[in-house]
Amino acid sequence: MESADVVIIGAGIVGSSIAYHLTQAGCKNVLVLERESQQGKGSTGKSMGGVRAQFSTAVSIRMSLYSIPFFRAFEEALGHPSGYRGQGYLFVATQERHLRYLRTNYELQTSLGLKAVELLKPADLTHMVPQLRGDDILGGSFCSTDGFVDPHSVMTGFMLRAIDGGARLVRNAEVTAIERDAAGVSGVRTATDRIGTRIVVNAAGAWAGLVAKLAGIDLPVEPLRRMLVPTEPFDKIAHSAPMTVDMATGFHFRPEGLGLLMAWNDPGETPGFKTDFDPAFVEKILTRGVVRVPCLEEAEVNPKRAWAGLYEMTPDHHPILGAVPGIPGLYLANGFSGHGVMHSPATGKIVSDLVLKGTSDLVDARLLGYERFAEGRLLEETAVL
Ligand SMILES: Cc1cc2nc3c(=O)[nH]c(=O)nc-3n(C[C@H](O)[C@H](O)[C@H](O)COP(=O)(O)OP(=O)(O)OC[C@H]3O[C@@H](n4cnc5c(N)ncnc54)[C@H](O)[C@@H]3O)c2cc1C
Repeated sequence: MESADVVIIGAGIVGSSIAYHLTQAGCKNVLVLERESQQGKGSTGKSMGGVRAQFSTAVSIRMSLYSIPFFRAFEEALGHPSGYRGQGYLFVATQERHLRYLRTNYELQTSLGLKAVELLKPADLTHMVPQLRGDDILGGSFCSTDGFVDPHSVMTGFMLRAIDGGARLVRNAEVTAIERDAAGVSGVRTATDRIGTRIVVNAAGAWAGLVAKLAGIDLPVEPLRRMLVPTEPFDKIAHSAPMTVDMATGFHFRPEGLGLLMAWNDPGETPGFKTDFDPAFVEKILTRGVVRVPCLEEAEVNPKRAWAGLYEMTPDHHPILGAVPGIPGLYLANGFSGHGVMHSPATGKIVSDLVLKGTSDLVDARLLGYERFAEGRLLEETAVL
């Protein structure tokens, strides 16, 4: 029978980062099991690639303060491009409550050491993105180290270096059982193999709840469809523009290729494994878009080029990381609530620390533990896009 020191279920950006960080820390016998024939077919390959430190809770900000410099140095350290582009995130406020919210977040972000974030006056915003409708803007915030990465490339870089460090990746290997004995986790099964291990990490993205059930636990992670709409080539907005977020509607966009990539959180969306793109969404998103960026009226969209993927939502919009009390050897790296790409470096580091040392200096990992739900210690991240 095959065995591994650690089995990671799921080879998306999170499983790959955990494998990389484990091997870097000297844990070589790591086996990553992926049910698909290639990596990136889950949420990682569907992502918008946004990375930001402009969050509202200390734990989210700390994870970004580790991850963003990591992306910047990625190619030098891992010999593979991350595609990091520090074009910033620009939050546009047209309501007093949003302005107060940005100020409060700014205080927290700067107190934790974020230097590149600034509060802006209305004229600064229209100077930065002249295509914004400006008459009702009250202010905003901008962080120049926020930006975007290429999620597929980051995932690939993590996995290549993990494999160099001793990890193995097996594709077409869906985990169908997690076995336990009196000491805790004892192995996993796929359709064709049994692998003996004392440590299993659930990194199954939006499917994490199904994998958790294999170990007999309920995981509060729900899949939620998320749709993205690219425009056809569009030259009315500079390709150096930041990710621009209209806080009034949640509409946001960033440059992509010769056009723009647009997103909007449809409040009518309900949990489930839906990944078909709804063509009616194009009109919904453009209606929100032209309110803030009138020239989008002229943008062309081919719905066939739009796509949908799954967010993996938790009740408090924070991930669930670390050991499961009562099941020795079972670890979770789940529920990123739409932030799994940007927080993948920090997640890999934290989970690797927890597996190997039981604690992490990067954040107080107890805050993100599975037990917080039973203990009523929910955090609330409100800066969810
Ligand atoms: C449209 C969209 C836009 C997004 N935009 C952003 C963004 O701008 N910034 C950001 O940070 N995040 C964004 N996200 C979220 C981000 O993509 C996810 O949080 C992240 O990719 C999660 O990575 P993961 O590795 O946990 O999951 P995944 O990439 O889904 O990987 C999980 C893997 O587990 C495998 N798996 C599942 N079950 C099993 C099993 N039983 N056995 C073996 N393998 C299994 C799956 O096949 C999959 O490959 C976006 C998501 C979507 C859908």
